[in-house]
Amino acid sequence: TVIITPTRDELAAARLKVTKRQKLELTFEGVLSEPSVTLDGTAIRLQANVDLPEEIDLAVRHGAQGVGLLRTEFLVTGKTHLPTEDEQTDYFRRVASAFAPNPITIRTFDLGGDKFPAAFEAANEANPFLGWRSIRVCLDHEELFRPQLRALLRAARDRPIRAMIPLVTNLEEVTRTRVLLNEEAASLAAEGIPAAASIPLGVMVETPAAVILADQLASVSDFFSVGTNDLTQYTLAVDRGNARLAPRFTPHDPAVVRQLARIVTVAHETDTPVSVCGEMASDPLTLVLLLGIGYRELSVSPPTLLMLKWILRSLPVAACEAAATEALSAVSAKAVAEILRQAVTPYLDLPQLGL
Ligand code: PEP
Ligand code: MG
Repeated sequence: TVIITPTRDELAAARLKVTKRQKLELTFEGVLSEPSVTLDGTAIRLQANVDLPEEIDLAVRHGAQGVGLLRTEFLVTGKTHLPTEDEQTDYFRRVASAFAPNPITIRTFDLGGDKFPAAFEAANEANPFLGWRSIRVCLDHEELFRPQLRALLRAARDRPIRAMIPLVTNLEEVTRTRVLLNEEAASLAAEGIPAAASIPLGVMVETPAAVILADQLASVSDFFSVGTNDLTQYTLAVDRGNARLAPRFTPHDPAVVRQLARIVTVAHETDTPVSVCGEMASDPLTLVLLLGIGYRELSVSPPTLLMLKWILRSLPVAACEAAATEALSAVSAKAVAEILRQAVTPYLDLPQLGL
C-alpha cells in the first residue's frame, strides 16, 4: 500500500514498523553461520529460488545451500532474439560457480501463459494457462530447446548441475526430453566440445496429473521438485494472478495438502529425492506443514532464507508431524491454518513475526 500524503499518525506507525522489521532482521542474521537443523536436530536443506542474476549475491550471502530453482525465462522475455547456446552456458556456469560446491537445479524454459519473448510468434489463446506453454513449447520447437540442453550439458562438465522440466503432465514429456538430452550429449562428444555425458533430469510436480502419475513419473525421473504455485492454481482452478481470488489461492486447502503428502509418500517408496520450490515454502506457517509432511529440502526466495532458518531452528519436527497429521484430516483451508498456528504457538511468538 502506498500512502501518497500520510498523516502524522500514519507516518509514525510506518516508522515503528520499519524499526521492528530491522530488529527482526538483525535477529535472523544471528543464525547465518548456524547449521540449518530443527530444534531436535533434523537437517533441513535450504536452497534459493533465483529468477534474475541480481538475486545471486543475496542468496549466497544468506547462506543458500545451492539453488533449487533457477528460472531461465529472463534470458528470453523482453528480448528481441533468443539466447545463444554460448550465452546460456556462460550464465549457467556463472551461477554454478557462485554456489559451488553446492548443486544448482536449472529449470528449462517455462515460457507461455503470459511470458512469450518478442522473438517468438505465439498465437493468442483463450486460456493461456491451459494452453501452449512450458515443456509443450520446448518439445514443439527443438530449435529453442536443443541449444538449452546443450548449454546445460556444457555448463555441467565440471560443476554439479541438475536439469528439471516444468508443467509435466505425462511420462512422454520426460522420456522425450531425455532422448534429446542424450542426443545432444552424443553430438557434443562427437564435436569434441567439453561437456557432461549426462546430468540428473527431474520433473516439477506442479499439476494434479503429475501427482496422480507420481509413481510412474518416478520411474523416468531422477528427482521431483514440487511447484506449489501452479499446483495450487491447477488443483483449485484458481488463477494465481487474480487479485479477486487471492483469498482462495491457498496451499492450505485440504486438496493441496493431501497432494503434498502423496508426493512425499511416492518419493520415499520409489527412492526419489524430493524438494519444494513453490512460494509456499517461504511462508513460516506452511514451513511447519511441509516439515511435518516429511519434506527435508526446500527452495525459497533469497530474502526469506535467514528467517526460515531461524524459525526451523526453533521447531521440533515431532510437533510439525503432529500438526500435519491433524491437517490431513481437516476439512477447510481455514482449519488447516488454525492447526498450524496452534502447533507453532509454544515455540514462536507469531505476532512478533508479524503473523
Ligand atoms: C511453481 O509453480 O510453484 C513454481 C515454482 O514455478 P513458477 O512460479 O515459476 O511457475
Ligand atoms: Mg510453475
